[in-house]
Amino acid sequence: MTTKQLFDNTKVAFELKSDSELERAYFLFKMISHEPLVRIGTAATNFALKAHLPVEGLIRATVFDHFCGGVNEEDCLNVIDKMYDKGVCSVLDFSVEGKETEAHFDGAMETTLKIIRFADERKAMPIAVFKPTGFGRFHLYQKLGEGKTLTDSEQKEWDRVVERFDTVCKLAKEKDVEILIDAEESWMQNTADALVEEMMRRYNTEKPIVYNTLQTYRWDRLDFLKSLHEQAQKDGFKIGVKIVRGAYMEKERERAEDKGYASPICETKELTDKTFNDTLMYCLENLNDIAVFIGTHNEYSCYLAMDLMEQYKISRNDNRVWFGQLYGMSDHISFNLAHEGYNVAKYVPFGPVKDVMPYLIRRAEENTSVAGQTTRELNLLKKERSRRKLDS
Ligand SMILES: Cc1cc2nc3c(=O)[nH]c(=O)nc-3n(C[C@H](O)[C@H](O)[C@H](O)COP(=O)(O)OP(=O)(O)OC[C@H]3O[C@@H](n4cnc5c(N)ncnc54)[C@H](O)[C@@H]3O)c2cc1C
Repeated sequence: MTTKQLFDNTKVAFELKSDSELERAYFLFKMISHEPLVRIGTAATNFALKAHLPVEGLIRATVFDHFCGGVNEEDCLNVIDKMYDKGVCSVLDFSVEGKETEAHFDGAMETTLKIIRFADERKAMPIAVFKPTGFGRFHLYQKLGEGKTLTDSEQKEWDRVVERFDTVCKLAKEKDVEILIDAEESWMQNTADALVEEMMRRYNTEKPIVYNTLQTYRWDRLDFLKSLHEQAQKDGFKIGVKIVRGAYMEKERERAEDKGYASPICETKELTDKTFNDTLMYCLENLNDIAVFIGTHNEYSCYLAMDLMEQYKISRNDNRVWFGQLYGMSDHISFNLAHEGYNVAKYVPFGPVKDVMPYLIRRAEENTSVAGQTTRELNLLKKERSRRKLDS
C-alpha cells in the first residue's frame, strides 16, 4: 500500500462500528449535509430542551452517541477501551461551555484534575485537556490583553484563574500526563498565551508537559512560535504545541470588520494550509525543543507529517509527535494511522446531554459549512456500507 492510499482503507477505519452504528453515522452525515435541516434541527432541539420536552433520549441515541463518549468520565470508559484496543488513545474533553461562575470554574478544574488522575492509571489516556475560559471569565482575559488595569476584585478573581492553571499543570507534571490547553478567540488569546508560557517555564523544564495551541488560520502564529522558541532556548524550557487551523474564523473576521482593525485571519484557505504545514515542518525540524500534537482532519497535512517523519528519521511512536482528531469524525485518518504504528489520540467530548448541546451544534454546523468534509465522510461510509453489503 503506498502512503497516499492509506486513509482509503475503510475496513480498518470503521472496524469498531457495528452495522447499525455504521448506518446511524451514514444517516447522520446525510442529514448534516442539508443546511436547512441543520438550522431547523438546531432550533427545534433548543426549543425542546428549554421546554423540558423529553428529547434527551432521542439526542443521546443519535447525534450525542456519535460525537460524545458519555455523560461523565466513567460513562466514557467503554469508548476509551474499545478505541485503545485498536491503538487509538483518548483525550477526555469536558465539553460544557459558556458557564461563567466561580463554582463552574472550580468544577471544571476538579474535573480536569480527576481526568489527570484517571489518565495516570490508564495507558489509553496519556493526555488531558482544558479550555482557558473553562477556568476563568472571558472578560478578564480580554481586559488584561487590552492592557487595562483590573479592579481589586477582578484582580483577586484573576489570581484564582492563575491558581487553577497552576494546580492542573503541577499535577500533570507530577503524574507525567501531558496537558493540552485549547486556543480560543484572538482577543482573549494573548493573555492565555502569556499564562501558558509561564506554565511551560515552570513545568516543561525536563520535557514538554504543558502544550499551548496554535491556530494557523492566524497569519502571525509561526512567528509567534519562532520567538517562543528563542525564549525557550535562552531560558531552558521545552515547548509543547498543539497545532490546529482554528475554529472561530467567521467570528474573527466579523469582529475585525466591525471594529475596523486588520483581520488576524489568513486571507485564503490556501494561506491557512501553508501556515499549518510550515508550522508543522518547523516543529518536526526542532523536535528536540518542540513536541507537537497535530490536531487536524486534513488528509494532506497528515500525509505530509508522515513523509517528514520518515525524512527526518523520527520513529512513528516517538512520544513527541501525536496525531489527533475529534471523536465521531475522520476515523479513516485516526484508525489507519494507529494501525501503522503512529501515536493517535481522539478528543472524546463528554458532559450532560443538555450542556454539550453548544458543542454538538458547532459540530453539525461545521460539518455543514465545510462541505468537502461531510461529502468525504459520506463517501467513506458509503464505501464501507457496500463493502459490508449493507446497501443492497
Ligand atoms: C484534536 C483537535 C483539537 C482542536 N482544538 C482546537 C482548539 O484548541 N482551538 C480551535 O480554535 N480549534 C480547535 N480545533 C478545530 C480546528 O481548529 C479546525 O476548526 C478543524 O479541525 C478543521 O480544520 P482541519 O485542519 O481539520 O481541516 P480543513 O478542512 O483542511 O480546514 C478547515 C479550516 O481551515 C480554515 N479555513 C477555512 N476556510 C478558510 C478561508 N477561506 N480562509 C482562511 N482559512 C480558512 C478554518 O480554520 C477551517 O476550520 C481542534 C481540532 C482537532 C481535530
